[in-house]
Amino acid sequence: APLRGEGLTKRKIGIMGGTFDPIHFGHLVAAEEAYFSLGLAEVIFVPTGDSFHKRGRNISSSEHRYTMTMLATLDNPHFRLSRVEIDRGTPSHTIDTLREMHHWFPPNSVSFYFITGLDAVLDIMSWKEPFEIAKTCNIVAVSRPGYNKSKLQELPEEIKSSIIPLEIPLLAISSTEIRKRVSEGKSIRYLVPWPVEHYIYKNSLYNRNGW
Ligand code: ATP
Ligand code: MG
Repeated sequence: APLRGEGLTKRKIGIMGGTFDPIHFGHLVAAEEAYFSLGLAEVIFVPTGDSFHKRGRNISSSEHRYTMTMLATLDNPHFRLSRVEIDRGTPSHTIDTLREMHHWFPPNSVSFYFITGLDAVLDIMSWKEPFEIAKTCNIVAVSRPGYNKSKLQELPEEIKSSIIPLEIPLLAISSTEIRKRVSEGKSIRYLVPWPVEHYIYKNSLYNRNGW
């Protein structure tokens, strides 16, 4: 007898993971392009859990990052937001999150499209169980200024076979640059959605002293 769900078209679920400190238009354009180009049913944004250090700096609390991600995604009907990593309290490994998310859906009913920038994909061999990640989902490698997609050729065959390179409108925006601009009193208008900009000022994030 055929397995349940076999032969049916699987729903394609996009997953957009990130620290989102803060979320910016580079993240949003990546998710939107993946949604349309790959015919996804939805994209679930997954902010990372609290860690004391990311590259040696303190990151904003997970609640701040979660709220900014909600403000940035709420006007898009096919974007969703998950607390799965945040509620674990500690940083999660991608493979563990993917395994947990699979349990949210009936067996064999969905396929996952994990959306990452080229910079992140090129780092994948340093993640926990990269070969298992490649088996568990399709990895969508979106273009990002400063990173060359020809470098993907250097990854092992088993990883490459699950990578879908995707050209998106290039936005030279990073959260690091936005934090720096805020701390220097420079404008971040048109780099982040305006509710995120207001949230940053209202909560004095990134060493800016409020409004
Ligand atoms: P930081 O500077 O703090 O590392 P970031 O801008 O890289 O922040 P992350 O939260 O680290 O943002 O990134 C989440 C995901 O979004 C990663 O896969 C990253 O490669 C991708 N990404 C971030 N910015 C862009 C961008 N401008 N274009 C394409 N992909 C991006
Ligand atoms: Mg980054």
